[in-house]
Amino acid sequence: MKHAIEYFSSQWYPYPWPNAVNLGGHGAGMEYPGIVFDGWQDKNDLLFWITTHELGHGWFPMIVGSNERRHAFMDEGFNTFIDAYASQHFNHGEYAPKKDAEYAPQTGDPAKDIVPVLTAPDAPTLMMPAELVPEKYRHKVTYFKGAYGLTLLREKILGPERFDPAFRAYIRTWAFKHPTPSDFFRFMSSEAGEDLTWFWRGWYFENWWPQYRLDGFVQNPASQGGENTVTVGVRNEGKLMLPVLLRVTWQDGTHTERLIPTEAWMLHDRLSLSFPGHGTPTTIALDPNQGLPIPDRRGLILIPETSTHP
Ligand SMILES: [Zn+2]
Repeated sequence: MKHAIEYFSSQWYPYPWPNAVNLGGHGAGMEYPGIVFDGWQDKNDLLFWITTHELGHGWFPMIVGSNERRHAFMDEGFNTFIDAYASQHFNHGEYAPKKDAEYAPQTGDPAKDIVPVLTAPDAPTLMMPAELVPEKYRHKVTYFKGAYGLTLLREKILGPERFDPAFRAYIRTWAFKHPTPSDFFRFMSSEAGEDLTWFWRGWYFENWWPQYRLDGFVQNPASQGGENTVTVGVRNEGKLMLPVLLRVTWQDGTHTERLIPTEAWMLHDRLSLSFPGHGTPTTIALDPNQGLPIPDRRGLILIPETSTHP
């Protein structure tokens, strides 16, 4: 309790009530301003997560008063997002997402666990009114996809140095008021200084996902006195163009990386990227750290010796 209140207060917005009570009860976790409940038999990971989560509701929706009956992702999803970082902060990640965690329920890796949710033909979108979300998707979509959307925005799109001040300003501006999703979307685009419409559309209004493939490579021999270059082809086959890292590893063990931004795909579905060469590449990899929820991961790695040129 002490950790959750101190961490959320310093990271996002000060806890405004004079006390906090956590009661071990006979039901599941439940939140009220200043008092929360967990199960009296909860232990370890579950005790940490339920306590942190119920206290986290002090911020969403008790401070930022979104309509949880209508837009549940602004309550459960936003709260689960801040809980995931709290779990990484507490005791060096002792209770950070693992299998069966509230966040990333299958493997503990949200980029893997979200794929079946994104690609399920019957999954509701985040914008589906809460009462119309089937029970089997309530947790997967409202909590997990809602939380992971903010993680993608923080880690893959804006970076913490732009996301954190923007999200703090959102909380501060909408504290004790009633924002709708469009208030949140406009506010974050404005504070981040970037048009994020493509992300709101793909992640919240639709169930879109990223899908990229490598499209071969060409070695261009050095001109006189110059360096040789390597040109790598990349293809977009998805609808959610999250920024994707391209890494070329050279024979001497060094590598060159380039982040392909969303804007690169505005007019094209194919790109050619040239790198100053250090001889023949040993590996060319898209999303080498497997940080993006790309459903089909074939075609993301190219080993030049065995590949054919386009
Ligand atoms: Zn909750």
